[in-house]
Amino acid sequence: QNLAPVTVIGLGPMGATMAETFLANGHPTTVWNRTAAKAEPLVAKGATHAPTPADALAAAELVVISQIDYRAMYDSLGPATDALKGRVLVNLSSGSPAELRAAGEWAAAHGADLVTGGIMVPPPGIGKPGSYVFYSGPEDVLGRHRDALQVLGDISHVGEDHGLAMLYYQAQLFIFWSTLTSYMHATALLGTAGVSAGEFRPFAAQTVRELAEDGPMGFLKILTEEMEARTYPGELNSLRMQAVGMDHVVEASCDAGIDTALPSALRDLFARGVAEGYGDDGLGSVFEVIRKPAA
Ligand code: NDP
Repeated sequence: QNLAPVTVIGLGPMGATMAETFLANGHPTTVWNRTAAKAEPLVAKGATHAPTPADALAAAELVVISQIDYRAMYDSLGPATDALKGRVLVNLSSGSPAELRAAGEWAAAHGADLVTGGIMVPPPGIGKPGSYVFYSGPEDVLGRHRDALQVLGDISHVGEDHGLAMLYYQAQLFIFWSTLTSYMHATALLGTAGVSAGEFRPFAAQTVRELAEDGPMGFLKILTEEMEARTYPGELNSLRMQAVGMDHVVEASCDAGIDTALPSALRDLFARGVAEGYGDDGLGSVFEVIRKPAA
């Protein structure tokens, strides 16, 4: 069975695991990295080391890029633009949506197609069940390389706009980071009264689980409906009441001698909502505050 050849550019923890995964699935794999020594363990597993970016581009139509940012792609491939013609660059590096859109134009100007992506697992998750990648850019081009890319994780094409993959990626990461940082804040707060993280975890787990489920605490669904309808009933629990409660979280954190940055940010958002006339609405009205930044 002749599987499509793949080139991987960038051999940090992510790129190296991607190359390993392509090799393990039988794809002839060529690798290039700015620091050449990182290619050695992969060569030992059967990869071909390209001495230059131009050689790496020549080795396969499908070129998967995983570097620290988009600047790194220009640094690496900028001197090899003649070799870009006809290539499909699948860049899974982090960047701003605007950078991704500009990169799409840059690739097209050199006769290449760009598919942007945000991979939603850390290195050990690559190619494992549950791994998935948000892709954006030309769907037909992605479709041609579906079989090879599927080995990294499930494919979710979210639109033709090159910036979308990163917007989805950042949206997901923001939920991940803010939820876990809230858990750290909550644990630190309780810790000042001698409660261990392990004692608190079952309660925190219950909250996180219930938010996503259907039921009286299933606020993800309730909030979705409210944001879509742009109406935020607050008869039972008004934003005004919750803004006072949030004040108390800041006060408790301050009294306990821990950092107050995170609760203060929420307190400020809630307070602005009340000041802008959403006091009688529900918590969901904070969505309106977020959509309209403070002057
Ligand atoms: P890094 O983000 O640390 O990126 C390392 C890679 O970038 C190396 O190959 C490095 O080359 C290369 N690089 C950096 N600067 C340049 C440059 N100017 N020119 C050429 N190459 C450069 O490692 P990761 O593998 O962790 O992440 C890769 C991407 O994947 C990042 O964009 C990250 O946000 C994203 N990501 C990471 C996850 C993770 O859990 N690690 C999860 C999901 C996405 P050299 O070896 O020569 O330094």
